[in-house]
Amino acid sequence: MVSISSGALERLATASRIAVLTGAGISAESGVPTFRGAEGLWRKFRPEELATPEAFARDPRLVWEWYQWRRQLIARLSPNAGHLALVELEKRADEFLLITQNVDGLHDRAGSKRMVKLHGDLWRLRCTGCSIEFEDRRAALPELPPRCRCGRLLRPAVVWFGEPLPSEAWERALEAAARCQLFISVGTSGIVYPAASLPLVAKRAGAYLIEVNVESTALSHIADEVILGCAAVVLPKLIAELSAAERQNLASS
Ligand code: NAD
Repeated sequence: MVSISSGALERLATASRIAVLTGAGISAESGVPTFRGAEGLWRKFRPEELATPEAFARDPRLVWEWYQWRRQLIARLSPNAGHLALVELEKRADEFLLITQNVDGLHDRAGSKRMVKLHGDLWRLRCTGCSIEFEDRRAALPELPPRCRCGRLLRPAVVWFGEPLPSEAWERALEAAARCQLFISVGTSGIVYPAASLPLVAKRAGAYLIEVNVESTALSHIADEVILGCAAVVLPKLIAELSAAERQNLASS
């Protein structure tokens, strides 16, 4: 049974500047494996073998096989009620930014618009030579590793361990965290930096911090409200309770 405090609901109802950080947990209910946790991908694969520039230089085909596996898996899946609830929240807020660490494209498919992707996008490819970047939504690429027209290898346009975040996305995320009145952290373990610093930035700047996760995380101790439960259940419930409160206010005014 998920319980949401009246304090959190009030913040949700009154905040006009909202930032939301999502991690792998929001897509778990859609069937995308998280990196950590019982079903974590890293139980079967070691990240340093696959998601690093060194791994790609050593064995681009192996790295691409892993990404191809993920593309094929995710292509069959759909956004869940948690992704859709964030679209609803976006429509309600004057200022809103969805900051996602996910690369699966499910927020786009749900309809989120005001969004930055901190770790890139599994459905985009970038040339290691001429740096051209483009979308390719085919689940299975005909040639592994794929090559650019310029002859050099293409890589997934995602941020690998040890690589910097895309600077524009990071600047926008930092600004939104520093400006928002309400920051919601959803389905992220809070240990992958620098993304994990955003809730702290928001909190220091005076925002109310809500965390939604199935378990306590490194962030829980600074959150004003920790809502334990699946994102696909908690987020729609937040929106439903908000709508119910608004209807009640209208009826009594
Ligand atoms: P993580 O794997 O480290 O942690 C996932 C978190 O989600 C955990 O805290 C877990 O308790 C929580 N969680 C699991 N199921 C949940 C649910 N149903 N509802 C709410 N919370 C749930 O993921 P992270 O914090 O995002 O960081 C790891 C990195 O992994 C990120 O950089 C991200 O790019 C990448 N990643 C992305 C995807 C994706 O695109 N879907 C999948 C795996 C990993």
